[in-house]
Amino acid sequence: MIINNKYKRKNTSMKEINSTEFDLEVLQGGKVILDFFSTECPPCEALASKFEDLSKLYGNDIKFLKIYRQQNRDLAEKLGVKSSPTLLFFNEGKEIGQRLTGGIKRSDIIHNLDLMLPENRLKEIKLKIKPSVSEYDVIVLGAGPGGLTAGLYLCQSKINTVLIDIALPGGQVSTTHEVSNYPGFIEPQAGYLLSHNMSEQTKLCGTVYKVAVDVTRVDLEKKEIVIDEYETVKAKKIIIATGTTPNRTGAIGEKEFKGKGISYCATCDAKFFDNKEVVVIGGGNSAVEESDFISRFASKVTIVHQFEKFTANKKAQEKLFANPKMNFIFNSEPRVFDKDGDKMVTEIENLITGEKTKLVSDGVFIFIGMKPNIELFKDNLKLDQWGYIISDENMQTSISDIYAVGDVTSKKYRQITTAVADGTIAAMAIAKELN
Ligand SMILES: Cc1cc2nc3c(=O)[nH]c(=O)nc-3n(C[C@H](O)[C@H](O)[C@H](O)COP(=O)(O)OP(=O)(O)OC[C@H]3O[C@@H](n4cnc5c(N)ncnc54)[C@H](O)[C@@H]3O)c2cc1C
Repeated sequence: MIINNKYKRKNTSMKEINSTEFDLEVLQGGKVILDFFSTECPPCEALASKFEDLSKLYGNDIKFLKIYRQQNRDLAEKLGVKSSPTLLFFNEGKEIGQRLTGGIKRSDIIHNLDLMLPENRLKEIKLKIKPSVSEYDVIVLGAGPGGLTAGLYLCQSKINTVLIDIALPGGQVSTTHEVSNYPGFIEPQAGYLLSHNMSEQTKLCGTVYKVAVDVTRVDLEKKEIVIDEYETVKAKKIIIATGTTPNRTGAIGEKEFKGKGISYCATCDAKFFDNKEVVVIGGGNSAVEESDFISRFASKVTIVHQFEKFTANKKAQEKLFANPKMNFIFNSEPRVFDKDGDKMVTEIENLITGEKTKLVSDGVFIFIGMKPNIELFKDNLKLDQWGYIISDENMQTSISDIYAVGDVTSKKYRQITTAVADGTIAAMAIAKELN
């Protein structure tokens, strides 16, 4: 609630309402953006400064309203608002645009606001956007375990640090079902909780967060990063901690059915396959471990792997072979993903015989490895043959004052513990230099 009082004092174009005012303020209120928020909600905090900033730009034309979800549950339920924050947009009583929730980006809010105004007015508003520049000692790009640990150590060394992420903090751990190998916890930890705790620890220390932003440009030589097109962030040193993204199979239909039958995240989607049949593509640690997790929900899991044996660790393989819900197809790759009504149809090819078979299932999960997230800055950095960043024992890259940590670096083992260790090393090396 303190957050809202602050808003009221600072900015008259922003106002908090309750459900009894909804009709008057929203349905009869002209052009409105309405934020359902909660307290103790990190994504709501990440949204707050963007909401306030945009209210200064658009506030003369569009009403910026906030409503506390916990105290207005009935209205939230009536409107189908299920999570915080959720942004709704209304024009003359009608909801327009796409509802936004989770790690909400400034560009997505602007897209919806722009739907409500004529072009000449938009031009005037955009002219008011003033580029801004801020300076820090260190920018950490990427807020997974590697970046968060670097942020924590730097902050505790009193080094002025900003963490920038295109998503909410937490990295891959936040979408991992359970983590049982992170030291210090006797019981397995839910991935979202472990990453939440890491993030809160770093934030509490005082590290500045700029998350759920668009990273527009990265200049490693000048040590400048432009976010959301108008905000330049400069630093003496940069730590790259951008992790990896899942590889695609390249089969026909993969892009088309992503999120519509094809998933890359068991934690996020396995629960939707209760008593259903699923196909998993892959045979490494992720594929084998996540298949076991999916089998808690699904009635049948068919794993398709390109080699004659799995490459996952032996213990995980033994568990999988003993699981009666599992079916195994080796030496095969997917060629086409298609739909037949509600069913996914996966055409696979046997790499030895060339024979093609169609597997009908309720959904497909793909776990075939990762690629490093380096698109915006790969040109001048020394990379290994797979495109991972080469760094030395202090995590320093081939460019001076640029460090790289975690999964994005060239290394043999990619785990939370190894990312955390890299983040520690880079931060300590930087702290020594800057102090
Ligand atoms: C399904 C699954 C299960 C796993 N289970 C375990 C396990 O049980 N135990 C274990 O130890 N490890 C596990 N791992 C591996 C572990 O999650 C990673 O090793 C670890 O998260 C790496 O941390 P990181 O900080 O290097 O990168 P990430 O966690 O990938 O974080 C990178 C961050 O950078 C951000 N980013 C990306 N591009 C940009 C950009 N251009 N600008 C700004 N930010 C950007 C991303 O949004 C993300 O927040 C698992 C991985 C997966 C996929």
